[in-house]
Amino acid sequence: MPTIWTWMHPRVDESDRVLERNLRRLKEGDVDGLFLLVYDGRKAFYESAVLPVEKDELSRVVAIARDVGLEVHAWMFSLNCNVREIVEKRSDWFAVNRKGNSTLVERPYVEYYNWLCPSREDVVSYVLSIVRELAGIQGLAGVHLDYIRFPDVILPKGLHAHYNLIQDRELPEYDYCYCEVCRKAFRGESGRDPLEEHDPSQDVEWRRFRENRITRLVERAVREIHEAGKQATAAVFATPELARQLVRQNWAEWPLDAVFPMIYHKFYDEPPEWIETASHEGVEALAGKMPLYAGVFAPELPGELAGRALDFALEGGAQGISLFSAEALTDDQLSAVARAKSQKLS
Ligand SMILES: [Zn+2]
Repeated sequence: MPTIWTWMHPRVDESDRVLERNLRRLKEGDVDGLFLLVYDGRKAFYESAVLPVEKDELSRVVAIARDVGLEVHAWMFSLNCNVREIVEKRSDWFAVNRKGNSTLVERPYVEYYNWLCPSREDVVSYVLSIVRELAGIQGLAGVHLDYIRFPDVILPKGLHAHYNLIQDRELPEYDYCYCEVCRKAFRGESGRDPLEEHDPSQDVEWRRFRENRITRLVERAVREIHEAGKQATAAVFATPELARQLVRQNWAEWPLDAVFPMIYHKFYDEPPEWIETASHEGVEALAGKMPLYAGVFAPELPGELAGRALDFALEGGAQGISLFSAEALTDDQLSAVARAKSQKLS
């Protein structure tokens, strides 16, 4: 697998020539892996029979990337969903908070935070149909799952001030999913209704139940991807512990080919050195199960610091980094990363 990756948004207005120049610039900066966003929760940027199609950007990028020598993985939203047809016709698919409101009624934090419930078989089939389409596309190396989680019951602490929030515990309006399907399934397992509990956040089994719902979806998605002979990866929250606490992702248990925790230090009020600490925590929890690549937030790593980010990640036991995002990368950052790579890995 590549050592240096980047997440790239579709740039449908760019000419082939400009796109090729941009991809070559990445390659010259020693980036070898590319996550191209092909489904953003609203529209597809590939030939889809399931989703509304904006434009088939994927074929174009795959063709140019082949010439340039970049490995392309299709990056997709999983449970965050703003597809108009689904919003309008499948309101019962959306996750419900502890106050009884679905994200369509009471949206947490931001306008696009509409989330599907992973306990519903229809939802799972829908997500898997997208995965299957992507896994079948020629020239792709893999499928990259993003937003494969519950909405943040607690936001990363560096974001609290921005949203003017104090989240020192799990508040009911951000706590999902209490839909009938989830409650019934949990009652079947435990004999309890989480809604009747005084403080459901203290019910370890209820937390575990929701983690398992996500893990089960990941397992099924990975099976589809592997059957098509491709690699399965995911973007996840920064450390195993934070991922479980904030968004119910128990990613150390997932059967991926590689995992990409988003170690965006500023979001957690941490210094860049934290990239090493967080990488280390992830690698320890994985115990050799799969490689870890540290996702880093490039705008907070100007110039030489981008190269240091790779050092931190490797020191922490990561196999490399993924830079968010391609559009924001400066030439200085790319050359710093390339230099750090040649020094470390030569
Ligand atoms: Zn539910």
